[in-house]
Amino acid sequence: MADLVLRDVVVDGLPVDVRASGGVVAAIGAGLAARAGDEEAGGRGGALIPGLHDHHIHLLALAAAARSPFVGPPAVGDAAGLAAALGRAAAAGGPGEWVRATGYHESVAGPLDRWQLDAIVADRPVRVQHRSGAAWVLNSLGLDRVGADGTVQGVELAGDGSPTGRLVGLDGWLRDRLPAPPPPDLAAVGRRLARYGVTGVTDATPVGAVDELAPIAAAAAAGGLPQRVTATGGPRLAGAEMPSPLGRGPVKLMVADYALPALDHLAGWMRRAHDAGRAVAVHCVTRAGLALALAAWDDAGAWAGDRIEHGSVVPPDLRAVVAERGLVVVTQPNFVRERGDRYLVEVEADDLPYLYPCRTLLDAGIPVGGGTDAPFGHPDPWRAIAAAIDRRTAGGDTLGREEAVPPERALALFLTPPGGPGGAPRRVEVGAPADLCLLDGPLDEILANPSADRVAATVIGGTVVSAR
Ligand SMILES: [Zn+2]
Repeated sequence: MADLVLRDVVVDGLPVDVRASGGVVAAIGAGLAARAGDEEAGGRGGALIPGLHDHHIHLLALAAAARSPFVGPPAVGDAAGLAAALGRAAAAGGPGEWVRATGYHESVAGPLDRWQLDAIVADRPVRVQHRSGAAWVLNSLGLDRVGADGTVQGVELAGDGSPTGRLVGLDGWLRDRLPAPPPPDLAAVGRRLARYGVTGVTDATPVGAVDELAPIAAAAAAGGLPQRVTATGGPRLAGAEMPSPLGRGPVKLMVADYALPALDHLAGWMRRAHDAGRAVAVHCVTRAGLALALAAWDDAGAWAGDRIEHGSVVPPDLRAVVAERGLVVVTQPNFVRERGDRYLVEVEADDLPYLYPCRTLLDAGIPVGGGTDAPFGHPDPWRAIAAAIDRRTAGGDTLGREEAVPPERALALFLTPPGGPGGAPRRVEVGAPADLCLLDGPLDEILANPSADRVAATVIGGTVVSAR
């Protein structure tokens, strides 16, 4: 592989050239000598920073989402918008094919049910995923296709005993009854993330079988998905090896707000992960969920690298416990922008001051890393960085002003290493992997108005994977 030489870039405030060789940064200096066979790229004085790492993403769901309309705010805001989006999706597919949509929220057209969906599309099976990822709503034909009746736990029933169409916590059950979806286009996901300067991701999906990671491993091995991928998997995969070339991350544990696990179950999962030499990453989106997870940590003991995913509500008393246990929080500042307006209306007043904290966690000495939770959030980390700085909602309100962090700190949420979210940010330095993000101007100028539009080129392992 030819060396890559990036000319006229700025690293840590200094104008330099950077040579990447053998996948790592081999030299940094002013006026580096050219060598035969070099590939050269001009940086025009733009800042060169380490490639961004998204510490919490769902790759397969993101690929699937590209084929399914998103029917929640801000894209879809009312019943007419929902009908239009589902109608377009139905028209795009063949007869008998499922119509699939994601991101639904009650603010669009109330607690959606099968009768509402039947009124929009009756001649095709339809399934709509709730924004939380925890529930699906099916139309009548869809319910019929999968055999969702009153005998299945999780199928919600109306007063007369007929299914409402809402299926709660039945993701796996549903998947077993649905036709095989078209293969996910992970290369498209890879190209999209590369345009944002993302060179690595941690897939936080709690899959129950190694096979479910096979498409990701295949795309990563073939190069279609150029990013470095760390995978978590659920508790059943605690002792499993990840398929090459995926890295082995923490074990993902769900503390779902709709069905809190028993304390001893959760503590048992933690112990098994630790016994297998792995940290845990625990999904905590409510005060009760976080309290339960902390109680389980009391029981099982906290390990270095154990993480709280989301940390959506962290009041001061629990914050102190999180700090004391040495736990890491992986947050999604983009939700402030994307969901903040709804939060301001819907979240209980008691919880509102403690939503998606960042600054107070850092001040308490808690390491904080950033992730987008795409496709549940937008996959562009620059949007998250912007929201971490200004804490503004899409509607222009402010959510938790005191949780705002300085620009460099917001960027650092996505620069910490895959194995250590919240740790010391990676740097462009000799010997480091040549995973780089070239910006089209000075860093302080870009951080004054963060945007993926300012990413000029993305380099992974010394290869340019995206260039404008
Ligand atoms: Zn997630």
